[in-house]
Amino acid sequence: MKHQVITKLIASFITVVILVGAVTYISSNSVKRVSAKADQLIKVEIPQLNQITNTQNLMAATANHLLQYYATFDRANHINNVPNFARLQHNIQNISAIHQDHEVSRKLEQSLQVFIDRANRLDAEMQLEEDRDWDVLRTHLYAAQAQSNLILGQLDITKKQIAERVKQGSVSTQYEVHQLNYLQLGFSVVVLVTALFILFNLHSRIKDKAELYKRAYYNGLSGLPNRKYFEEHIHQILSHQQSPDLAMMMINLDRFSLITSSIGYFFGDRLVHSVSQWLIATLRQHASSFDIYHFSGTSWLVMFKHAQTEATLAQLAEQLNLISSVTLTIDDREMTCSCSIGIVQQHALTQEREALLRCLDTALREAQQAGGNCYRFYQPSMSAVAKHWIETEQALRSAIEKHQFQLYYQPKVNTQTRLIQSSEALLRWSKEGVFISPAVFIPIAEKSNLILNIGRWVLTEACSQWARWRAEGLPAMPIAVNISAQQFQEVDFPRQVQATLQRFGMPANMLELEITEEAAAHDPKRVVQIMEDLKSIGVTLAIDDFGTGYSSLSHLSNFPVDVLKIDRAFIQHMHHSSTDASIVRLVVQLAKGLNFKVVAEGVETETQYQQLKLWDCNLIQGFLFSQPLPAPQFASLVMEERQRQHVNQVA
Ligand code: C2E
Ligand code: MG
Ligand code: MG
Repeated sequence: MKHQVITKLIASFITVVILVGAVTYISSNSVKRVSAKADQLIKVEIPQLNQITNTQNLMAATANHLLQYYATFDRANHINNVPNFARLQHNIQNISAIHQDHEVSRKLEQSLQVFIDRANRLDAEMQLEEDRDWDVLRTHLYAAQAQSNLILGQLDITKKQIAERVKQGSVSTQYEVHQLNYLQLGFSVVVLVTALFILFNLHSRIKDKAELYKRAYYNGLSGLPNRKYFEEHIHQILSHQQSPDLAMMMINLDRFSLITSSIGYFFGDRLVHSVSQWLIATLRQHASSFDIYHFSGTSWLVMFKHAQTEATLAQLAEQLNLISSVTLTIDDREMTCSCSIGIVQQHALTQEREALLRCLDTALREAQQAGGNCYRFYQPSMSAVAKHWIETEQALRSAIEKHQFQLYYQPKVNTQTRLIQSSEALLRWSKEGVFISPAVFIPIAEKSNLILNIGRWVLTEACSQWARWRAEGLPAMPIAVNISAQQFQEVDFPRQVQATLQRFGMPANMLELEITEEAAAHDPKRVVQIMEDLKSIGVTLAIDDFGTGYSSLSHLSNFPVDVLKIDRAFIQHMHHSSTDASIVRLVVQLAKGLNFKVVAEGVETETQYQQLKLWDCNLIQGFLFSQPLPAPQFASLVMEERQRQHVNQVA
C-alpha cells in the first residue's frame, strides 16, 4: 500500500517535471518569436511607415511650393524650398532600400529626378522674367506635378505593402500568443490535477494514519478505547498522582466460549456489541465520572475517577449483573447472558499498573469461580487462590505432552445381578508425583478452554483402551466418557466421536457420553440437535449429576437421552434425610416412566444398595463395589468376576 503510493507520487513527479520542461521549451521559443516580431515592428516597420508618411508630406509640400512659385513669382520662397529636394532624394533612397523590387526603387528615384529636373527648369524659365514663356512654364509645372503624384501613389502602395506585412505578423503573433495561452492553461490543468492527486494521497495517508490510530487504541466491535489506551492512560495517572482517587471494575461475559460454540462467532460478535451498549447505558444511568474500556474480547474495564464507597460500587455492580435478566435480540434471535465482575477499591490500589490489573483479575476470577453472574471485591487473601489457579492452568497446558494424564475406570454394576455391566472412564492427573483431583483441575481446564484438548485425549484414550481390552480377551463392555459443555458444543463434535470410533473399530453402542445436567440446560434447542446427531451415530447418552442443576424431568424428556445418573449427593444423604430419599425414589420412578435407565452414583453402603434395588434402579456405581481403578486392575476385576460366575454356573 505504502509502496504503491510512493510509486504513484514518483510517477506524477516525473510527469510534472517532463511537462514543465516541454512547456518551458515551447513557451520560451514562442516568446522569442513573439519578441522578435515585436522588435521588427517597433524598430523597423513603424519607423519605415513614419518615414514614408513624412516623405509623402514632404513631397506634397514641395509640389505645393512649386505651384505657389508659379503663381506668385516669389523666388525667395522657392530658394527656401530647394533644400527639400535633397531631403526628398535622401528619403527616397532610404525607402528604395526597403523594396526588394529594384524596378520600383528605380522608378521612384527616376520620378523624383524628373520632378527635381522640371522644378529646376521651371525656376530657370522664371528667371527670364519678361522673356519667360508661359507655355514652357506650364509644361514644366505639369510634368513636375505628374511626377509628384506618381511618387505619392507609389509611396501609398509601399505603405500598404508594409501595413500588410505588419498585419500578417500580428496575426501570427496573435496565433502564437493563443498557443501560449492554451499551453499555459493545459499546464495549469496538469499541475492542478497533480496537486489534487498529491493532496488526495496525502489525505488518504492522513486518513490511514487516523485509521491505524483508531485500530491501535479502540476496539473495532464496540468503538470503545481498548486495553492499550487504558494502559497509557493509567500510566499517566499513576505517574502524576501520588494517591489517585480511583476505583475499578472488570466486567467479563460468563461462558462466552460456550455461547460462541453454540451460536457461532458472528453472533458472538453481535452479542458483544449489544452487551457493550447495554453496559454503557446502564453505567450512564447509575454512575457519574467514569471511563469505560473494552479491555479484551469479552471483558470491559470501568475506571471511576473519584473515590467511591463500597456500597455505591456494590449497588452499581448489582445493576450491571441485572444483564442476566435482560433479553437481547440479535437478528430475531433472543439471547440472554450474564457477567462476572471484579472490583478493586481505592485503598487496595497499588502504584504499579501490572499489580493493579492482577488484583482486578483475581477479584474477577473469584466471581467466576463462585458460578458467575455476581461480583467480588478484591481482598488480599484472594491472591493466593488466584496464584494457585494460574499455576495449575500453566501446568495443565503441558500435561498431555508430559504424559501426566491417565484414565481410571470405575465399574457400573447391574443392581439385580451385582455383575459389572459397564464402566466410567475418570481422568487422573499426576503432576510430578502429586495426585490432583479432577474436581480441582477440570473447572480450571474448562474456564481456560484447555478442556477441548484434554477431552479429545480422554475420548481417544478410552476408545483405544476398549480396543486393547477386546484384544486381550475381555468381554465387550460399554465405556462411559465425561464430556464437558464446551466439548459437546464444538461444531464438529459428533464427527470427532464418529472418527474416533472408526479409528479403533469400536461399535457405537459401546460408547456412552455423560453430559452434566448444567451443560445440557444451556441452549436446549441446540443441545437437542447435537444429541440427535450423536444418537444417529448410535452412541448412548447420559445425563450426569442429575439433581444438581435446574432442569426438571419434564424438561429432560425433550432430550433424546438414554440414561439418567442421580447425583451422589442425594444417594449419600438418603438415609439421613427423608426428603433426599423420597427425591431419589421419585426420580427413579419418573425416569423409568420416561424410559430412561437410571444409574445411582456414589453408592457406598449395602443399605443404600438394597434400597436402590428395591426401587428398581438399573445400575449402581460407587465405592461399595469398587473405587475407580487403573486399566489393568479394572481388567483383572472383570476377569475374576467372570471366572467366579463361570465356576458358579458349572457348580
Ligand atoms: P462424575 O462424572 O460424576 O464422576 C463420579 C465421581 O464420583 C468420580 O469422582 C468418582 O471417583 C466419584 N465417586 C464414585 N463413587 C463414589 C463413592 O462411592 N463415593 C464418593 N465419595 N465418590 C465416588 P472423580 O473421579 O474425582 O471425578 C469428579 C468429576 O470430575 C466427575 O464427576 C466428572 O464430572 C469430572 N471428570 C472426571 N473425569 C473427567 C473427564 O475425563 N472429563 C470431564 N469433562 N470431566 C471429568
Ligand atoms: Mg460422570
Ligand atoms: Mg456424576
